[in-house]
Amino acid sequence: MTHENAICTLECWAYARGYCVHFAHDGDDSVDEIAKIISINTTRSLETQLYTLLHECGHILIYGSDKVVNVKEVTDHYGEKSNIYRVFRVIEEVEAWKRGLSLADRLGIGIDKKKWNRDVARALKQYMKWCLDPNF
Ligand SMILES: [Zn+2]
Repeated sequence: MTHENAICTLECWAYARGYCVHFAHDGDDSVDEIAKIISINTTRSLETQLYTLLHECGHILIYGSDKVVNVKEVTDHYGEKSNIYRVFRVIEEVEAWKRGLSLADRLGIGIDKKKWNRDVARALKQYMKWCLDPNF
């Protein structure tokens, strides 16, 4: 499966769950659970866009099953500046990457593990920095 085909497959997967995928130069690589919009930045390689999209779909899978990761149980009750809120957000990020990888497997989307691991590390490091920075 080409990266283009894999992205189309994921767009359909997201659409079936009520989410639209927006690709834009200023996309912020996020998923808005209320507006049901996934935003993907197009300035990165197609492969990175695919992996980011898998990660955002991983968040959608988490929203659908609070039993496994009870991140909301914490983030709904503590402020963004609190340690517990930040640590649980990092936990959600890790889980979303894990679920994105399982989803790729289920949908038959091939992953270059070396590149995947680098993208995961880059994204998680940003969250870890935010988690530990009291001024953020
Ligand atoms: Zn995320």
